Amino acid sequence: MTPTDLFIAGRWTPAASGRRIPVLNPADGTEIASVAAGDTADGLAAVAAAHDAARDWAATAPRTRGEILRRAFTLMTERADEIADLIVAENGKSRADALSEVAYAAEFFRWYSEEAVRIDGDLRTAPAGGNKILVMRQPVGVAVLVTPWNFPAAMATRKIGPALAAGCTVVLKPALETPLTALVVAEILAEAGVPAGVVNVVVAERSGPVVSAMLHDPRVAKLSFTGSTEVGAILLREAADGIISCSMELGGNAPFIVFADADLDAAIEGALIAKMRGGGQACTAANRFYVESAVADEFATRLAAALKDQETVLISGSARDRVHGLVTGGTGKVLAGGQLPDGPGFAYPATVLADVPAEAPILREEIFGPVAPIVRFDGEAAAIEAANDTPHGLAAYVYTRDLARGLRVGERLDFGMVALNRGLVSDPAAPFGGVKQSGVGREGGHDGLLEFLETKYIATSW
Ligand code: NAD
Repeated sequence: MTPTDLFIAGRWTPAASGRRIPVLNPADGTEIASVAAGDTADGLAAVAAAHDAARDWAATAPRTRGEILRRAFTLMTERADEIADLIVAENGKSRADALSEVAYAAEFFRWYSEEAVRIDGDLRTAPAGGNKILVMRQPVGVAVLVTPWNFPAAMATRKIGPALAAGCTVVLKPALETPLTALVVAEILAEAGVPAGVVNVVVAERSGPVVSAMLHDPRVAKLSFTGSTEVGAILLREAADGIISCSMELGGNAPFIVFADADLDAAIEGALIAKMRGGGQACTAANRFYVESAVADEFATRLAAALKDQETVLISGSARDRVHGLVTGGTGKVLAGGQLPDGPGFAYPATVLADVPAEAPILREEIFGPVAPIVRFDGEAAAIEAANDTPHGLAAYVYTRDLARGLRVGERLDFGMVALNRGLVSDPAAPFGGVKQSGVGREGGHDGLLEFLETKYIATSW
């Protein structure tokens, strides 16, 4: 039985208004459950609970916090099949993708169980020699976590893991499309021994007012957001009123560069992962393929053959219409897909567009669907210039057998993450994040822990 109420102060709670909203299966449009629809009163009740629990949780021994997170890893891993089913039902991704997401999501609990006991500080001597500078790190305080629907488990654990390890208490506001997975994550954390109030989950029918009310509550010290650049910009403005610390993981527009000397088998394999994971609905999804002229036709033909007759389920009808509009409005030769399928649900075929001109609109937008536009280029400088010609800077992919070139190009790409001869950048131990309009801050690794810690120093002398 999946929980469907809000989780506040350790209790499953109906919305203050009594309202509930349906959760739909995007594969066929059917209702799979209804969840409590919170409003600002619920959001503020959750903030109060997180605030009440904050002092004790910050004072809980790091080892104890770590062991709770380690139990959460075990419990989540044990329930992987069931959680994957839930993700498939509310998000529409394939079962294989859902299972990998659960494994990835659980790893954040394991990684941060190990990081909880590695919160360090240092002692410096002032240059003049007189005083000492004692630097320590303390939990930033109550954190509001806002997550998207495309990775309903992993985007929650990637924030909750480091927050709890650092000693922060949290209010998670999951996406309205995928609230059930977030509620199960809360259930697992409670079973793992997280005290009441340390983790709260509020599903909101209208996110704007609920998140705004929380960000204007002086008890809130931190916002960690993953979602679109558009909403991220709104929340940065909201957070400015209270000078709240912000970590923002926003949209991407990843270039996938294939040089003529690349191992094409590996490049096709990487392209399938980078393009098709979650049906192309990943912030790191390869959005624009730049292939050196000498191998462009072969790459396009082989990618089209590999993707032929594949179909993915997109999150909503409007998402599907948007993707189809980009395909029909873009120029380029359709080598695979491109047709809107009949039937219920929001399926879309894997689509390959070859010989797309450099100025095509599809290259400027985050496609968020299984569509691969391919552009030709000649020479390293042209590839770098085209790749960097975007306000976004999350992930980029480079395929070449020349390692020196790969590293040289990687250094010049204006992106937070570069995958060199790989189709995947995500790793719980790595600092995940973007530059330019793709965000501020990093998640994962030790860097992710620092986002939830404040630096304090004590000036002293002896
Ligand atoms: P979204 O911005 O529409 O929603 C994200 C979250 O914000 C959801 O919980 C939503 O309910 C909430 N929200 C929406 N409007 C709000 C408002 N006015 N005030 C407060 N909260 C609001 O994004 P989405 O469609 O759920 O997710 C897709 C986007 O997320 C893509 O742009 C993708 O690139 C990005 N994304 C980024 C990363 C990353 O790590 N950089 C990871 C996954 C997804």
